[in-house]
Amino acid sequence: MKLIDGWLTGVKRVASAHCDERPDGEVPSLLVIHNISLPPGEFGGPHIDRLFTGTLDPNQHPYFADIAHLRVSAHCLIRRDGAIVQYVPFDKRAWHAGVSLYQGREQCNDFSIGIEMEGTDDRDFTPEQYQSLSVVTQLLMASYPINAERITGHSDIAPGRKTDPGPHFDWNCYKALISR
Ligand SMILES: [Zn+2]
Repeated sequence: MKLIDGWLTGVKRVASAHCDERPDGEVPSLLVIHNISLPPGEFGGPHIDRLFTGTLDPNQHPYFADIAHLRVSAHCLIRRDGAIVQYVPFDKRAWHAGVSLYQGREQCNDFSIGIEMEGTDDRDFTPEQYQSLSVVTQLLMASYPINAERITGHSDIAPGRKTDPGPHFDWNCYKALISR
């Protein structure tokens, strides 16, 4: 896998318009880990792609009615089988973090990359997901001023508002994989 013009090679691309330029050519220097599943607790299916591209059908599920209007995205999604989907090139600002604070600096979208792990707060992620996440992370660490200390969870930059990636995200496993 390589990084060309902010896109991973060899992965599924679903281009999202839910992004814009980073302010003043900011280079991403923080990685934020999330989890998502749509509907909540269900895996597979096209709904995450649709949410991130503004095409989620609000009538298809009661939960979708609450979120279909949101203009949100992440740079990547890692599915349960480890397959990667990229929505936004890394040099662009994806809209994943919302109101957030990291080491005294607000609006983490400005300077971060957001990766979604398909999952929930109450279930373990799969080995295939950690494997893919670590490959992408190592590529990002080689390409941007991101190191193991500048990787955080959504819940850490938006405490009280967000709980993902949740207690089942195995930070020790992940950190061990990216240090190899
Ligand atoms: Zn999140």
